[in-house]
Amino acid sequence: MKILLDQTACIGCGVCTQVSPEIFVLDAEAGVARLLQEETDDPTAKEAENSCPVGCIRVE
Ligand code: SF4
Repeated sequence: MKILLDQTACIGCGVCTQVSPEIFVLDAEAGVARLLQEETDDPTAKEAENSCPVGCIRVE
């Protein structure tokens, strides 16, 4: 699966980093999430997509 993260829409809530810590990390300086991997077969990526309150994660 390919993971896309729209950092311009991210509000830095950290939910994705809790649901899927191998893939998402919070960039404290920027105040937004960033990706540790852009391609994965980790199913938590989909959970993060479904959990993001602003819908800025896309997994395809
Ligand atoms: S769950 Fe969404 S809004 Fe929250 S930090 Fe992750 S990408 Fe950003």
